[in-house]
Amino acid sequence: MGCFAFFVTLLLAVSSYIHPSLAQSSTPTVYTDPDTGIIFDTWIVPATGSGASGVTTYGGLKFGMALPEDGLTTDATEFIGYLQCASNSSIATGWCGISLGGPMTNSLLLMAWPYDGEILTAFLWATGYDTPVQYTGDATLTQISSTVNSTHFTLLFHCQGCLAWDQDGATGSNPTSDSAVVLGWSQAIAAPSNPQCPASVTMAQHEAQSIFGAVLDSNAANPSYSEWAALATNTVTGACGGATATPTTTVTTTGTVTTTSTTATATVSGVPVPTATYDYIIVGGGAGGIPLADKLSEAGKSVLLIEKGPPSSGRWGGTLKPDWLDGTNLTRFDVPGLCNQIWVDSAGIACTDTDQMAGCVLGGGTAVNAGLWWKPNPIDWDYNFPTGWKSTDMSAAAGRVFSRIPGTDHPSMDGTLYLQQGFNVLASGLKAGGWAEITANSVPDQKNHTYAHTPYMFSNGERGGPMATYLVSAHARSNFKLWTDTTVKRVIRTGGHITGVEVEPQAAGGYAGVVNVTPISGRVILSAGTFGSAKLLLRSGIGPADQLAVVKGSSDGPTMISNSSWITLPVGYNLEDHTNTDTVISHPDVVFYDFYEAWDNPNATDESLYMDKRSGILTQAAPNIGPMFWDEISGADGIVRQLQWTARVEGSLGVENGKSMTMSQYLGRGATSRGRMTITNSLNTVVSTLPYLNDKNDVLAVIQGIKNLQDALKNVANLTWEFPDADTSVEDYVNNMLVSYTNRRSNHWIGANKMGTDDGRSGGSAVVDTNTKVYGTDNLFVVDASIFPGHVTTNPSSYIVTVAERAYERISALATATPGAKFAQCDGATWTGSFQCADGLTCTMKDVYYSQCL
Ligand SMILES: Cc1cc2nc3c(=O)[nH]c(=O)nc-3n(C[C@H](O)[C@H](O)[C@H](O)COP(=O)(O)OP(=O)(O)OC[C@H]3O[C@@H](n4cnc5c(N)ncnc54)[C@H](O)[C@@H]3O)c2cc1C
Repeated sequence: MGCFAFFVTLLLAVSSYIHPSLAQSSTPTVYTDPDTGIIFDTWIVPATGSGASGVTTYGGLKFGMALPEDGLTTDATEFIGYLQCASNSSIATGWCGISLGGPMTNSLLLMAWPYDGEILTAFLWATGYDTPVQYTGDATLTQISSTVNSTHFTLLFHCQGCLAWDQDGATGSNPTSDSAVVLGWSQAIAAPSNPQCPASVTMAQHEAQSIFGAVLDSNAANPSYSEWAALATNTVTGACGGATATPTTTVTTTGTVTTTSTTATATVSGVPVPTATYDYIIVGGGAGGIPLADKLSEAGKSVLLIEKGPPSSGRWGGTLKPDWLDGTNLTRFDVPGLCNQIWVDSAGIACTDTDQMAGCVLGGGTAVNAGLWWKPNPIDWDYNFPTGWKSTDMSAAAGRVFSRIPGTDHPSMDGTLYLQQGFNVLASGLKAGGWAEITANSVPDQKNHTYAHTPYMFSNGERGGPMATYLVSAHARSNFKLWTDTTVKRVIRTGGHITGVEVEPQAAGGYAGVVNVTPISGRVILSAGTFGSAKLLLRSGIGPADQLAVVKGSSDGPTMISNSSWITLPVGYNLEDHTNTDTVISHPDVVFYDFYEAWDNPNATDESLYMDKRSGILTQAAPNIGPMFWDEISGADGIVRQLQWTARVEGSLGVENGKSMTMSQYLGRGATSRGRMTITNSLNTVVSTLPYLNDKNDVLAVIQGIKNLQDALKNVANLTWEFPDADTSVEDYVNNMLVSYTNRRSNHWIGANKMGTDDGRSGGSAVVDTNTKVYGTDNLFVVDASIFPGHVTTNPSSYIVTVAERAYERISALATATPGAKFAQCDGATWTGSFQCADGLTCTMKDVYYSQCL
């Protein structure tokens, strides 16, 4: 394992990229406990599978439920549970986790582990992909029996308050009356830390996990339930020595970070904000924010870029790295072959205020992603974007992006592509099936029955991208400032005019206070990512009324802008992501490379090739991605839907690494399904409506795409379809696959602050206009993935950088603000002009449609 703190991520996402998971059957197996007679529906995880760090055997896991007699007609909040968890050692030190809602985030998590002859348990809660905290709601676990032997531990227990949860107002449930529940499981071989004390237990990343729909049949509910539940008399608390809580971190409104634990309290004060003002304050140093900061500073504007997270790349002072990079200026973020470490250990890197995976470090997604880098397909602009953002408008911007970050499909400096056996197996089939090989970034519009080697933004064998280009030139200018470890809490505004932003330290060295823009002409640009920018708008009193009410009821409430100044816009709607559908094949020629092992223990030849020559397999993104291939599906609704397939040399869905490949299908341009992002009263964002497969033609496109692929590969000798297998129709495979963000997301979230001409204040769908300006304001802009109206052909980061280049053109062409003279209009329900008044005048409301400088 790595050289710094690990944590649990119970149920990591599949896709961009990508962590193995093991499949289990949804169909229950009835199990009757011989000692108590309790009858359970159980679900069994297979005994072997492939996971990170070269681990190949887990020994299996079995989870069961017995419900109250009416549990199949009335939603139960409690159950009797059965958990059998394997260990790979004779001393049985590992742990198992069950998500009682399915995903890791925003579900009640139950963790169990053996200690000193007993089984200890803890209820936990995770708001993001970081260390879970103790659950503070009302769940109790009382044991019926437990056993520990050299290979397994087994626990029978009564779980009350376990199927409906409430963590600080974030509520949810797993209804049993649907005759199925969604469950998640995880399994780790290493023992947790502080194993003696459930209230302060911490744990390393698990090796395997999955999510599944567990069918409840008539055996699940039983008239003897109460009698059985009465057998639960043993409350096992462990030995905490007075400890009652795990460490928690809070940030006070005065800008102080306080970390408290049972043993220590540490306080980090923010650095007071200096008095300087800026022409532009840009919030978020990711794919959108960095290029924009460079362009605006190049134009002579004073620019402050505020990033919540710490530096990532070594170039910017990042320090996180495996031992073998010690003594170099490289970090884990710089070495392409280590990119999947985000799925193994994301503590201090992943955002903790969203239930999705996002990078909260300098570089944002471009620091943690797999670096796939695509010249935009012109039709994506023409299909999705409004006037002013069509392909003819975007081509100059795209040209500038690719002149600075050309990318390469041969990332090794020696020009060799390594371990291409998997690529060759699939490419030979696609070719025989009539698909054409292309160099993707030479012909960006050829995305139908074509395949290619994978282009990356990498340069010189390292990650490269915006941090190695735009940020370097920005940083050389005296009119550019970068603050890291500083979170923007909200914008400060008077009506529709923003005067500055309120910041608080995310860590030591971060700033606290209010930083202002240049009076009258200054502007604020939010580039905090799909969830981050939407959250900032909500915290600034801009969004749907129901969401602003949630913020009002949160810790922000007392200092939130008055509701008379709220701006009603559809923030959070139009949420979209590529819908991911995994398929798996195996072939004897395929050769697996263990990128996870390369973290601790890289192959000596590969290490020296990389260190000495920036060559070899470690210059390619984990887990050996390619080929990439594309298909277009014409729907009965007249819409052509774009599919991108990403193949990788790695098993999934329970198929072991070795000879297997996973082919992930992304449904992109043309998809009509949309979801919604909302905020909780603890100010975390959640995907409350999934954007996947809400439309029947979206589903049919996914099905047809798999059939087309099967057809293309049908003549590849010795190729075995594992998922869907030969006995499963594609229709059954797709229709029966769980639709959860845990297994269907691609981490390509867009759309929560849609760009458009239909002003959201008047019932339209747009949050920003075609200058990227937030409706109802005169100097607040959003430039990041959140403004995309719909999804694109490929992974989106190059498109986001291109949007930033184009936004620069649009924003810098806007007239400099002038405050309104006496009697000038300064506000109103559909007003799009200046919201400022000249000195001595006040913007005075006449009615909702009209305010005047008086
Ligand atoms: C694991 C993973 C793999 C991916 N793989 C690929 C890939 O291979 N190719 C590809 O094209 N795309 C990939 N993507 C998607 C791509 O990286 C994102 O779509 C892209 O980075 C989004 O750009 P953005 O500017 O909208 O936001 P981000 O790049 O996420 O930047 C937002 C920044 O804002 C900061 N921030 C947030 N809130 C605040 C605040 N309140 N105050 C201050 N700062 C704040 C964040 O810390 C972050 O640095 C991947 C994404 C993930 C998560």
